[in-house]
Amino acid sequence: MSEIVLEFFGAVGEVTGSCTLVHVNGRRVLVDFGLFQGSEDAEIRSLVPPPVDLSTLTAVVVTHAHIDHCGRLGMLPKYGFTGKIYATTGTADLLPRVLRSSARLQRMRFFERTDGTAPWARALMPGEEPGSAPKLPVIERMFEMADSKDCASRIVPVPLGKECQIADDVWIRFWNAGHVVGAASVEIIAGSGAARKSVVFSGDLGSYGSPLLAPPESPRHADIVVIESTNGGRRREPGANPERDIAAVLAEASGDRAKIIVPCFALGRAQQIVHRLSVLRARGELRNFNVYLDSPMAVHGMEALYKHPEYLAPALRSAVEAGEAPLWFPELHYLLSKRESMALDGLVHGGIVIAGSGFMDAGPILRHLEMSVDREDVRVLIGGYQPEGGMAWKLSNGADRMQFNGRIVPVRAKIARVEGLSGHADQDDLMRWLEGFADAPGRVVINHGTDEGRTALATRVRTELGCPVSMPNMGDLITA
Ligand SMILES: [Zn+2]
Repeated sequence: MSEIVLEFFGAVGEVTGSCTLVHVNGRRVLVDFGLFQGSEDAEIRSLVPPPVDLSTLTAVVVTHAHIDHCGRLGMLPKYGFTGKIYATTGTADLLPRVLRSSARLQRMRFFERTDGTAPWARALMPGEEPGSAPKLPVIERMFEMADSKDCASRIVPVPLGKECQIADDVWIRFWNAGHVVGAASVEIIAGSGAARKSVVFSGDLGSYGSPLLAPPESPRHADIVVIESTNGGRRREPGANPERDIAAVLAEASGDRAKIIVPCFALGRAQQIVHRLSVLRARGELRNFNVYLDSPMAVHGMEALYKHPEYLAPALRSAVEAGEAPLWFPELHYLLSKRESMALDGLVHGGIVIAGSGFMDAGPILRHLEMSVDREDVRVLIGGYQPEGGMAWKLSNGADRMQFNGRIVPVRAKIARVEGLSGHADQDDLMRWLEGFADAPGRVVINHGTDEGRTALATRVRTELGCPVSMPNMGDLITA
């Protein structure tokens, strides 16, 4: 009989830092090597590799190109890893750019913080006193550009659904996770016939109702399923209708020919917003707005959807396979450089600017706000989960001023919300994915979620599927 033992080194009781070591018939395979995010402390934790000899790993497998799953891959060369990194063809397309961009950002941030020139911004609630510059620690670089290139040279693209042998008696197979282009669940299979055992990692799962992406696929069997639980305790808001929310802002603002600023993450939300705008354009509801996608990574994400239509919802996939470009419309402009982004500063009216970051804590979105947030004809369209107390949360909850490097700017822009654009499965989607297995899994392991989310999902799995459930802590071992 084959042996599979899982050892957990990240995303246990939290939603970032995904990293699990799989001991499989004497081999060692690392599944995901993601960044811890959300605080300075998390970034410092990311600098410390798991207590594992990375130089002797058999292979690394990556579920998708979000940095909480792949953001530390660039550390591998530094610790002597010379093996292969397996990913879907879609993720393999995105990973080199993600790693290069991460190396560039780390280097820029290191020097800005060393010489005290790091830009900063905060939103101020009514009555809140402006503050001085935050004390930002100088964080060492995890890896350099050369390491990102070394990693890129080790990536092996594997098509969805194809069994790929990664060692003498070990295979992997990717299943579409419906989360972002390239995102997959991965099945690791040890041995064959009576000796066969398998473990499935869900990776991040998407929702079944996405009009942009194909729904998640459930594998057939697994001795252990490791499932994410980002939204393990949440259910989608009933009646949410993002097209209606966006159309309402366009209709209300069109008289002003306003600038509409939309904070987005480059992989996922940005493509969803462009898709919804393409639908509104087809209905004649885009009004006179031009749309500026101000993120080279988001543009690359758009192109990846055309190149890998297997990740698209059926109607869009058919259109792309027929040679059409269903997400494109004449008013859509791709901005690929800082110079093009800065040219938007002079944009007086009539534009929708989609830029990162989605939490509005970094990136070009801050410059767009600094230039425009004091204008009454500007709208800021905020969607999705926002960490409490963060920039977007404060703007959504009545912040009346912003502070940019010490300069105070009044908030006169109107803040609008768009609901129902989460790229993550909710609790019902997670259950549906588990129920889609041909046989109930031997054990369900819940990670990549807060303890509240994990516990809520665990209760449903135990009562509705009757499976044993584990919620690992850092360093825990679980045997199949
Ligand atoms: Zn993700």
